[in-house]
Amino acid sequence: MTTETLDIKITKAAQSRLAQTDFSQLVFGHTFTDHMLVADYADGEWKNFEIVPYGEIGLSPAISSLHYGQAFFEGLKAYKHQDGQVSVFRPDKNAARFNKSAQRLCMPELPEEMFIQSIAALVDVERNWIPTAENHALYIRPFMFATDPFLGVVPSKTYKFMILTCPVGPYFTKPLRVKFETKFTRAAEGGFGYAKAAGNYAGAMLPTRRAVEEGFDQMIWTDAKEHLYAEEMGAANVMFFIDGTLVTPSTRDTILDGVTRDTVIAMAKDWGIPVEERRISIAEIVEGAKNGKLTDAFGAGTAATIAPVGSLNYEGEEYPLSDPATREFSNRVFNTLNDIRYGRTEDTHDWNYMV
Ligand code: PMP
Repeated sequence: MTTETLDIKITKAAQSRLAQTDFSQLVFGHTFTDHMLVADYADGEWKNFEIVPYGEIGLSPAISSLHYGQAFFEGLKAYKHQDGQVSVFRPDKNAARFNKSAQRLCMPELPEEMFIQSIAALVDVERNWIPTAENHALYIRPFMFATDPFLGVVPSKTYKFMILTCPVGPYFTKPLRVKFETKFTRAAEGGFGYAKAAGNYAGAMLPTRRAVEEGFDQMIWTDAKEHLYAEEMGAANVMFFIDGTLVTPSTRDTILDGVTRDTVIAMAKDWGIPVEERRISIAEIVEGAKNGKLTDAFGAGTAATIAPVGSLNYEGEEYPLSDPATREFSNRVFNTLNDIRYGRTEDTHDWNYMV
């Protein structure tokens, strides 16, 4: 990574909306800060990096991202420490995944230092918007989309990179009732489930709506071929604690390589807990729920944080799990993660990027 400083033009909003914002009533993704970052890709290079007042942008109705879905995003968070310092959690991991998504969708990569400096500059401008309450943070949404204004099904030659920021509280506030999804598929081998492509989330909406109509909070996606193996949970990775071992599906074409997942694995290894990244069958999970060896199950993600599974459902059969408050592993992970992110304990892995 070079240390060259990115030239970012800053135009401040005439009036801040901060004073009118009720931080006790935040709904995820509804409250935006005063500014956003915008940059353009044309003639083979990224340029015009600007922080401008948050607001609508004018675009041609023919842009190919609207028609063919050349669009993807990232999600990460900034935290405010007790002493007022601000950190972003592992932005280098999101920069790398940003470029994996770009490659898969025939879109231009954004050099890591441009990605990180853009985030740092915007977070710096919005420091006062970062909530200080426990489990609250500034959610950061970088995204890229194609802007060529014609209807040809070819990769665009021009793009926009933008970043929005939102103060947020907890995404899930209760243990989740989750079903194994055995009809719909999120991602298949050879597809692009490992990319944070906008289309992956559009395709998940109908199955999610159906699951909610059936009384579930979330579903565990299963493999496209046989629907016998667990893959992810909603828009989070899924992790199980079986017989003293942390078990989670190994990453592949169909699975997003989550930053939280990687972080939980690293912490488990630090603590001397065995970790297995492998295929994990529904049969094994159900068996563990029946014989009591499945002592923990949770979703892991930036928005979801550590989201405990309260009960599992497979083909109409319900398997209640232990009371999440009594689960040793996920509570330890949740608390340690918060302590690192809010600067209350030593950050031995250098996960906090200080702004
Ligand atoms: N899987 C999917 C499909 C997701 O959308 C997310 C959220 N980004 C995750 C997993 C978790 O990834 P991370 O921990 O990097 O947020």
